[in-house]
Amino acid sequence: MPQLIVFDMEWNMGYAPRTFRYQGAEQTLRGEIIQIGAARVEAGRITDTFTVLIRPKIFPKLHHHVAKVTGLTQKDLAAGVPLAEGLRRFMDWCGPDAALGEWGQDDVPVLKQNLVLAGLDESWPRTWYDLQRAFLSQRPRAEGESMTLESVVERLGLEKDEAFHDALADAVYTARVCLTIDLDKALAEYPGEERQLEELLCPPDKKRSGFTLWRGYVDGEAWLTSEEMRRAACPVCGAPLAPDPEDWWLRKGNNSLCSMGSCPAHGPVMIWLRRMRSDGLHHTFARATEPADEALTARWQKEKKAALARAKRRAEREAAEAAAAAAERVKNAGR
Ligand SMILES: [Zn+2]
Repeated sequence: MPQLIVFDMEWNMGYAPRTFRYQGAEQTLRGEIIQIGAARVEAGRITDTFTVLIRPKIFPKLHHHVAKVTGLTQKDLAAGVPLAEGLRRFMDWCGPDAALGEWGQDDVPVLKQNLVLAGLDESWPRTWYDLQRAFLSQRPRAEGESMTLESVVERLGLEKDEAFHDALADAVYTARVCLTIDLDKALAEYPGEERQLEELLCPPDKKRSGFTLWRGYVDGEAWLTSEEMRRAACPVCGAPLAPDPEDWWLRKGNNSLCSMGSCPAHGPVMIWLRRMRSDGLHHTFARATEPADEALTARWQKEKKAALARAKRRAEREAAEAAAAAAERVKNAGR
């Protein structure tokens, strides 16, 4: 097992959302980094640590919520280095081939967005792990157990010698937590984005097949326009499925779409699409198909009908509002 860089960051937010352009697509900025802390883990122990404070430029005023959580002050930030310098120091300390690990999935997307903002290589790091997931693979969560870093440190009976929500302290705590499991094994078994999507789309209790993956889309809504993603083949005979008569796609939560195609020979087939954006910049899309039995077909019909009715009500409401606004304009013009 090569060395692992366990890291944690704090970032500042604005009081209004900020967007930036990346490869022609507009992206919402998740935050501007103000602190990075990291611990190098080699051969089962922490061999070095790193910390840097960064002076924010896009959101120069420290958000009150961030101030409260981190204990940082405006004066602390004023003593920080510019973003590009802080990130460069961190990259140099880690090394080009470093594998990074964090408690959760929030930090890598922010890191990569900030690398873009600073004009640095956002393809780094190439390998990273959600260490909470790795930890849970060997110590499954019991009902009601909180997974915040602090509560896990407490459950494991580890020493709490530093305040939480300082980037370096949290990185060190995360490293200590992960050293209580067989880390080499957990990382060797860690599922990449492709396998995570396959596990989500094709769970063992469902008869889904035809798993297909598309990577590298900056446009998160590419699934609405991509013929390739939307047109699937029959899982039984491979013939192209005829789309739903209205080409209707149901949204299931934030990251799933489904529709019902049909094969002339084998009847209705559900088409499932799912998306994931683990690096904060690029979306990966995946698709699977499932021959639809009566229950699945009935559910689709019912949900589609309800969604169509909602869309109709929304259109009517918008038309009424537009008509009212137009009438108001005419009235004002007459004065
Ligand atoms: Zn067929």
